[in-house]
Amino acid sequence: MTANGSYPGTEVFIAGGGVAGAALGVHLARCGRQVEILEASQAMHHKVCGEFLSFEAVAALEQLGLDLRALGAVAIHGVRLHARTRIAACELPFAALSLSRRVLDEALLGLAERAGAAVSRGRRVESLERDGDGWRARLTRGEVRRARAAFLATGKHDLAGHRRPPGRQNGYVAFKMYFRLSPAQQSSLDGWVELYLFPGGYAGLQMVEEGRTNLCLVVERGTLMRCRNQWPALLAHLCHASGSLTERLDGAEPLLEKPLALSSIPYGMLPANSSDGLWRLGDQASVIPSLAGCGMAIALHSAQLACEVYTRGGSAAEYAQRLRRHLKGSVGLATAISRLICAAPNLAEVVRLWPGLLGVLAQRTRVPQDV
Ligand SMILES: Cc1cc2nc3c(=O)[nH]c(=O)nc-3n(C[C@H](O)[C@H](O)[C@H](O)COP(=O)(O)OP(=O)(O)OC[C@H]3O[C@@H](n4cnc5c(N)ncnc54)[C@H](O)[C@@H]3O)c2cc1C
Repeated sequence: MTANGSYPGTEVFIAGGGVAGAALGVHLARCGRQVEILEASQAMHHKVCGEFLSFEAVAALEQLGLDLRALGAVAIHGVRLHARTRIAACELPFAALSLSRRVLDEALLGLAERAGAAVSRGRRVESLERDGDGWRARLTRGEVRRARAAFLATGKHDLAGHRRPPGRQNGYVAFKMYFRLSPAQQSSLDGWVELYLFPGGYAGLQMVEEGRTNLCLVVERGTLMRCRNQWPALLAHLCHASGSLTERLDGAEPLLEKPLALSSIPYGMLPANSSDGLWRLGDQASVIPSLAGCGMAIALHSAQLACEVYTRGGSAAEYAQRLRRHLKGSVGLATAISRLICAAPNLAEVVRLWPGLLGVLAQRTRVPQDV
């Protein structure tokens, strides 16, 4: 503290300006708080994500003031489940959208800036430590930031000294690739999110803006090694397991030079009690298996809850406990389903007998909308 009782820095800094960090920046700035978002990337970029926006995510983003359709978001009304052949198709019990993270994250950071948050790009936080009764962040190139409160929203990237615990489903690697499908395949996919089960993992396929199609998958490390860690061999493995996917990708043009990849994902991790006073948001707080399609909804929910607790004078520990209560059911169920279908993909055949089960499961893995 300085002699006049004020803190020698900003009130709050947020490490990471993805969905969680940017949304929190908007909330806090609108509550009149002095906030700086420290974001490692210099400019808009692609992220490993299926880019499915569940109805809670859509509602939260629209409440913040984003016009998702004006940004190019595509409507998704149903889900199809495939293994070797198509198993089932059903309408989603809610309206969903799909939008690339490159566009979405940038729009959110713009919103945070317009709300009054300072958005500092190209600022990677290297370390985060206690500094008296506040926090100190060291950035690349030796810059330092001090703040009364620190929020950790670096998503999939752990900071040294603040590593997340393992989840309940570990050892998976994720990939994402964009394609331009043939016109016939594009019109057949339009409005649907498709889930493909294959030995060692699963993949999601859906269109995003500008006629691009996102193929995003998670694969168990052993299967990836049997594919010699090579993308063409992995893609061949998926197509070998599913005639439907082979048909979809027939004549498709890859739109990235190489796929984006991500490893060490602690699926099933739930918010721990925060005894160190650090506020953890989004993927730093909890990681739901990708097939649930609601990681972004969780990130947005955590931002809203953190702002509510913080501005009321509550503690990081209270926030973490409440977040855990809100997420326990959906993260637990999604993790159990994910483990089951990865261990025994044939069990998915049950859905052939009862296609409505897909809708029921989609409903049961939802994230609360109110804080
Ligand atoms: C394979 C896969 C598919 C998925 N599909 C979906 C889906 O379809 N729908 C859905 O809702 N969710 C999906 N998710 C989950 C979703 O991507 C995450 O839950 C969501 O991105 C979490 O948001 P976040 O803000 O916590 O993290 P991120 O979106 O990862 O953002 C973190 C930000 O922090 C920045 N950063 C990182 N390190 C630092 C640092 N040291 N200093 C400063 N900045 C830093 C990064 O540049 C980034 O901008 C998927 C996840 C995976 C792995």
